[in-house]
Amino acid sequence: MIHPSTPLHPPASLGVIGGGQLGRMFIQAAQRMGYRAGVLGEIAEGPGPQVAHWSVIGPPDQLIALRAFAGQAQAATVEFENVSAPALRWLARRMPVRPGWRTVWVSQNRFREKSFLSERGFPIAPWRSVTTLEELQAAVVALGCPTILKTAASGYDGKGQVRIDDPAQAVAAWSQLGKVACVAEGWVTFAAEVSVVVARGVDGEARTFPVALNHHERHILDASSMPAPIGPIVTQTARELALAVAQALGTVGVLTVEFFLGADGGLLINEIAPRPHNSGHPTIEAGQSSQFEQQVRALCGLPLGGSDLASPAAMVNLLGDLWNSGEPRWEAMLRHDPGVRLHLYGKRTPAPGRKMGHLTVLDPNRETALARALEARHLLTARSAPPGRPP
Ligand code: AMP
Repeated sequence: MIHPSTPLHPPASLGVIGGGQLGRMFIQAAQRMGYRAGVLGEIAEGPGPQVAHWSVIGPPDQLIALRAFAGQAQAATVEFENVSAPALRWLARRMPVRPGWRTVWVSQNRFREKSFLSERGFPIAPWRSVTTLEELQAAVVALGCPTILKTAASGYDGKGQVRIDDPAQAVAAWSQLGKVACVAEGWVTFAAEVSVVVARGVDGEARTFPVALNHHERHILDASSMPAPIGPIVTQTARELALAVAQALGTVGVLTVEFFLGADGGLLINEIAPRPHNSGHPTIEAGQSSQFEQQVRALCGLPLGGSDLASPAAMVNLLGDLWNSGEPRWEAMLRHDPGVRLHLYGKRTPAPGRKMGHLTVLDPNRETALARALEARHLLTARSAPPGRPP
């Protein structure tokens, strides 16, 4: 194994665990910089394997697949948090693995994540660990209604969550989530949701991207724009909190911190993701470097790229629902606004709620960027031809 502090230069071979769109965009960033890039994914035709120099198809926690992956990769990163700590430690004995197992292990489980954050004094919503119905009933009394019950493991995009509006609903909620280990969280009345992507290098140098303002629909991220219009003090606080989380975890790589922003300007940390994030996609076109380039740089022990934006930007997700009445009208949308950047992840089967791609728009005015991105998405399913957009 090469010494962990030796930088890896192109054309070294980098591997990402997870073959979805985040893995695909990591691979594309690595390839642009001249690296060979491969993937350990479960589906041969998935977004990552489609573009990779090499692929290993198998579950990330299976030794056969890990061995094959270790035979190809000189350094490894992850695109999702559900990789087991033993698998990451096994790999780390053979190559640099960034982020390391501890960052991934903490952020893959809401109980560990909330314990970690509260023990270190980070601001989070009131919460209780729930492992029995009695604990849930006590939590609902302590936290008040509404309470949100979330499974400790493997929840995403609102899956594995149920809102309890009345103590009498506790029994049903406990059954609905399968009577598994959960956390109960007090309801947060937030004015906005924001997130910060932070990159941290081997030497501890860290950079945050501008804060993203996020809008969710059905618990799924729908639109993000940056820089969030939240004023310099809240912006600075969010960026400092994200840096402090990355530092406390000792993360090397990219990490995202999602926040609830209260009407009083107070920030509560909602979640940590040990990887680039959907809300950071505007950095692909608008950033001095993108969140994926930072992932490559941190993984390889290179100096981090700049994190300033060349322009305000917005992105909207393209979910499978857009295909409900047939193929979206790509041409009409592209013709209407040539400034729209189209990203499709190569997924063959659209399904409701499935992230198929996104659109990004750069504009000197953030709100205009968002309005243009939303309009472009609207045109994808609009029946009549759009009026011409003024130049
Ligand atoms: P999560 O998977 O925890 O990020 O939750 C998905 C979405 O559900 C969040 O982005 C919020 O919009 C909403 N949500 C989650 N937890 C809470 C809470 N404690 N209070 C209010 N809304 C929440």
